[in-house]
Amino acid sequence: LAGRGYDVQVGADLLEQAGTLARDFIRKDCVAAVADRNSHRHHGARLQAALAEIGVSVEWFITDPGEGAKSWDVLAKLADWLLERGVERGDHIFALGGGVIGDLTGFAAAVLKRGCGFVQVPTTLLAQVDSSVGGKTAINTSAGKNLVGAFHQPALVIADTATLGTLPPREMGAGYAEVIKYGILGDAAFFDWCEANGAKVTGRDPAALEYAVTKSVEAKARIVAEDERETSGTRALLNLGHTFGHALEAETGFSDRLLHGEGVALGMVLAARYSARRGYLSAADAGRVARAIAAAGLPSEIASLQLRCTGADLAAHMAHDKKMDAGTLPFILLRDIGEAFLDRSVEMSDVADFLTQEL
Ligand code: NAD
Ligand code: ZN
Repeated sequence: LAGRGYDVQVGADLLEQAGTLARDFIRKDCVAAVADRNSHRHHGARLQAALAEIGVSVEWFITDPGEGAKSWDVLAKLADWLLERGVERGDHIFALGGGVIGDLTGFAAAVLKRGCGFVQVPTTLLAQVDSSVGGKTAINTSAGKNLVGAFHQPALVIADTATLGTLPPREMGAGYAEVIKYGILGDAAFFDWCEANGAKVTGRDPAALEYAVTKSVEAKARIVAEDERETSGTRALLNLGHTFGHALEAETGFSDRLLHGEGVALGMVLAARYSARRGYLSAADAGRVARAIAAAGLPSEIASLQLRCTGADLAAHMAHDKKMDAGTLPFILLRDIGEAFLDRSVEMSDVADFLTQEL
């Protein structure tokens, strides 16, 4: 799979071939690798054994699991640790983990010695279909998520679908939301496939998983290649469901009550229903989106969250979204299943009314 000047390899048990796959990017007999405790415990030894086959040893930087690793504090520790190990610009750091480890490692690589290389080894479904491809890296600050970061492309992505065998079911579902997103926003035939095969994907059927990850990576790579730095608006389509989802995540305090992918899932249902309210999409198609999301065990009704807030409160969270541009918030809406577009004419008061009815 050609990403943007780099390879994205997708398949079961690819980790065993990591040495051969990454050989061109390793210049020394020891590499630095970053993981969190979970990705390290389940898959660290596999990566280490594969690199040992080409005579390379691994030194690990291991973080606590969770969003907290995307912080100034952990970034500082990681950068100091890498510098102590003499990492140079031509070296490649390995990121073994979910989106948190990929974003943290990618950002460290972007700034270390003004930019060194890195290899993504994503171990969550979300990271394989979304965060490991596209070159966005970031950490969080007290002002919000992903506010400090850089565009920095990995040299190689090794997406071993077998690593998902140890992922908790709820994390599988959350990643699947980003899979079905590619169908809803740009590929009606892939949406049909998801309707028929979604349960196989979340149930980790190897063939279905490999197909879903490959299709998703292709879709993301295509969109990113058209608009790498988010200037033309094409890349914004990837945010389908994210503006509504962000409001729900903010209202639930970015907690375990609602994982990011779960917020996106419900956000896509709301985007579809709102598109129907504006007369762009048929009510039948909005219903189809909601059923496909619900069938994957993902939330499809706001009421299920039992929020104690108003539609205006949710709309206010949206106004704090960083996609806000000169006072208006562009919304990704649907003209059809498989045909998303950017609508800059949405009035926040109308969104607030809509959400009040949904609550
Ligand atoms: P995550 O990295 O926190 O992983 C989720 C959980 O799964 C963690 O507890 C982790 O320890 C565990 N885990 C990881 N791999 C495992 C495995 N194989 N087996 C068992 N447990 C495993 O979360 P995520 O959902 O992968 O990523 C979310 C992050 O990605 C967010 O910070 C988000 O901002 C970022 N993101 C970035 C982009 C981008 O373009 N850079 C896109 C989407 C999301
Ligand atoms: Zn997302």
